Amino acid sequence: MLIIAKKKNIGVFFSTILFLGLSLGFYSFALHPNMKNWIKEGIVVSQVNTQQKAVALTFDDGPDPNYTPLVLNALKKHGAHATFFLMGKRAQDYPELLKRMSLEGHEIGNHSFSHPDFNNKSKEFILEEIKKTSEIIEKTTGIEPGLFRPPGGYLSYDLVKLCKKENLIIAYWTYQQDSKDWQNGMSADRIADHIIKHIEPGQIIILHDGCPNGHQTAKATDMLLSKLKEKGYNFLTVSELIKLEEKE
Ligand SMILES: [Zn+2]
Repeated sequence: MLIIAKKKNIGVFFSTILFLGLSLGFYSFALHPNMKNWIKEGIVVSQVNTQQKAVALTFDDGPDPNYTPLVLNALKKHGAHATFFLMGKRAQDYPELLKRMSLEGHEIGNHSFSHPDFNNKSKEFILEEIKKTSEIIEKTTGIEPGLFRPPGGYLSYDLVKLCKKENLIIAYWTYQQDSKDWQNGMSADRIADHIIKHIEPGQIIILHDGCPNGHQTAKATDMLLSKLKEKGYNFLTVSELIKLEEKE
């Protein structure tokens, strides 16, 4: 019982950090002056140019022992693939969830080891956060991640340089498809409605299986998959979606 109580406290602590990180990150995401050039170069991706009815669902901040299995169940029920951006610290604790993701055809991306705020951190610190996480993912699944999603959406010239060197594409999300599913009190209905209303081919949709509102996110996933499959949409991993890019 003592161990359970302790884990819960850590969970609350992390949620607060995540909340702060996400709020700060959203700010820099919208404002980085070189974002467009990096997208052109293909080092940053936030949406794919395609006419095909395909999108990528992405789930951040897990794995979570309670919510990640619910999300995986919903994806399995609808035969959909997704991409999970994992925190190395949590990946280490739940290797069986990584194995399940991999076995069921999902992609696993790197979301740093401890989800820190990268502002004012040294290059060495950032590299260590990324490397440690990639190592855990590769050791557990046999697959080296090819995608990195910076915690809180942090972006800088140094980070881009570092990711290029590590052969990582920086996977952002489509601005219109941020339903804020992680906010407490956000219902599954509202999350699903937001995504269904804004859906367009090639989008990268951000969701969170690793936040305290994760049960609503899992429920929303089941709902939106039903509706969007009826509309003819396919659900691919981010790497699969990138391959659909139609050059102009
Ligand atoms: Zn995150």
